Amino acid sequence: MMGITHAATGALIGLAIGGPLGAATGALGALLPDVDHPRSMAGRRAWLVGGALRLVVSHRGALHSGLVAGLLVLGALVADHPTLLAGSAGWVSHIALDMLNRAGVPLLWPSRRRFWVLPFRTGGIVDRLILLGVLVALVRLVVGI
Ligand SMILES: [Zn+2]
Repeated sequence: MMGITHAATGALIGLAIGGPLGAATGALGALLPDVDHPRSMAGRRAWLVGGALRLVVSHRGALHSGLVAGLLVLGALVADHPTLLAGSAGWVSHIALDMLNRAGVPLLWPSRRRFWVLPFRTGGIVDRLILLGVLVALVRLVVGI
């Protein structure tokens, strides 16, 4: 999915969990799994971190795994903090959205087997429709209509 789709989805989930601050951490959490990709929204902004990560992990590797996502959610639950939970939920939303692409994600990393559920193209019509639906839901949640 496009970075904006990830960010908007994370913001929507984060807003529902933790209010405005949750929306911000949800969006951030939804962008961070792609920080190891030099052309991603996160990778372009945090290029030093992304470059360092690329030395040890591959794109759609560990950062797209069920292990990392699960540890983040577990940590947020143990901390019992809605902002952290929103961020980890944003991260999980990224993994779920990337499963709507044939490239898939390595849910069982370190196994390299990738899992995907639908073969939609990043930037394609479905990606844009998901973005539109998420933006409508965000506006409805914020404005209350
Ligand atoms: Zn991704």
